[in-house]
Amino acid sequence: MAKLLTKSNYLLGLQCPKLLWVTKNDKQRLPEHDEITLKKFSDGHILGELATKVFPEGQDIPDDNFMENLRNTKKLISKRIPLFEPAFMIDSLYSRADVLVPVGEDEWDIVEVKSATRVKETNLHDVAFQKYVYEKAGLKIRKCFLMHINNQYVRDGEIEPSELFVQTEISEKVEEFSEGLEFRIEEMSKIINSREEPNCKIGFNCSNPYDCPIKDECWKDVPEDSVFDFYRMLKKKTFELYDSGIVKLNDVPENVKLNDKQQIQRRLAFDGGKHINKLQVKNFLESLKYPVYYLDFETINPAIPKFDGMRPYQRIPFQFSLHVQEEESGELRHVSFLAEGMSDPRPKFMQSLKDNLGEKGSILVYNQGFEKGVMNECSGALPEFREWYDENIFTRIKDLWDVFKDFSYYDPKQEGSTSIKYVLPVLSDLSYDKMDIKDGALASLKYERMTYGDVEEAERLKARRALERYCELDTLAEVEIIKGLKNKIK
Ligand code: SF4
Repeated sequence: MAKLLTKSNYLLGLQCPKLLWVTKNDKQRLPEHDEITLKKFSDGHILGELATKVFPEGQDIPDDNFMENLRNTKKLISKRIPLFEPAFMIDSLYSRADVLVPVGEDEWDIVEVKSATRVKETNLHDVAFQKYVYEKAGLKIRKCFLMHINNQYVRDGEIEPSELFVQTEISEKVEEFSEGLEFRIEEMSKIINSREEPNCKIGFNCSNPYDCPIKDECWKDVPEDSVFDFYRMLKKKTFELYDSGIVKLNDVPENVKLNDKQQIQRRLAFDGGKHINKLQVKNFLESLKYPVYYLDFETINPAIPKFDGMRPYQRIPFQFSLHVQEEESGELRHVSFLAEGMSDPRPKFMQSLKDNLGEKGSILVYNQGFEKGVMNECSGALPEFREWYDENIFTRIKDLWDVFKDFSYYDPKQEGSTSIKYVLPVLSDLSYDKMDIKDGALASLKYERMTYGDVEEAERLKARRALERYCELDTLAEVEIIKGLKNKIK
């Protein structure tokens, strides 16, 4: 029996035939979903449910049983009411719509719900596949819409689903993306029903539109110091080099056009060692005024605004770590803030910053756009902090990232990255490897879960400890990097 091709299969097939084949024929090679991905699924589910409120007369079709779903759809379709998640199957093609809305006597509109704030190419392919299947199954489709988050929505009391979401008509675009769809479906059906796994070269599609789950497997032969380490090189150019046999940084001939930073990388690949512009590093270090405040924030940015006055995806800071050093090479004092309870953490967060950032001295961060942006947004929402932020804080902020993104210092062990996670181990003995929480995305997830989720007290305390340790390491990392840089220019 021919294997089913679903709309998610179709999207995988567009990304890569091999990924599609593995998904249908050798699923155990796909790694388990990580916590972040599972959270995305659950957030998507919550948004989907909220979206159904826009159609109060609609009916949900239980989705736990595949055949049941098809049967229920058949029964309910004649009622001519909006249907949530109706399923259709025809000629080994299976698709479930987010919402089908009846129009006039016998037509339907497809409404696809997405958590993004704009229409993406992959959404158009998604809806094009759906439309093809529904029409093949005998439905008359009038128009197609993408119902996505309205980034201009401002919460005022209860969430208003009809304002949180905005519907963008995509009928014309869907027509465009339907061109050649039948042929693509035929090709994909052949792939999934074949015993032979397609042989696909690595390419731009390995992380576009999504990171491929079997990337580790396909990329295992890419050596260290490869052209993929080139700092901010366009993917297209990198693959052109790779496909032409120029794999390692020291394979790159002189006539290949590189920017200054990429030239440094290539030179180090030939000569070894690290790159340091001592004058630039010295100037940066001398620009720091003591006391120095080493600062780092953690935030969440929920699609559904949590508090009045907030927009979708607006950042809510819930934690900071601060190491204070009164004088050069002096003792460190650590101060931290981690929000308690479910109320808006921003007033206490800002007040605690105000209490601890003093009146003078540099405030050192790693990627100032983030910390400045968060404090600026908070000062917009809490005007009592505006003057303090604009006049006392803004001008004191120094960005340690400048040293690395300008390549004043570069060590090939950074593998082309200037993220603090890569910089820290090359300048100190510290690293994030052994931490329970290793990055900001996981920190946000843990905070959201322990604050708004249904968790036991022991788990909540464990999450708090892990968050404290993680954020503290972020500012200790800044201290250690400064120390490391000082040693380098001695
Ligand atoms: S890593 Fe790249 S080549 Fe391998 S399956 Fe994924 S998309 Fe295809």
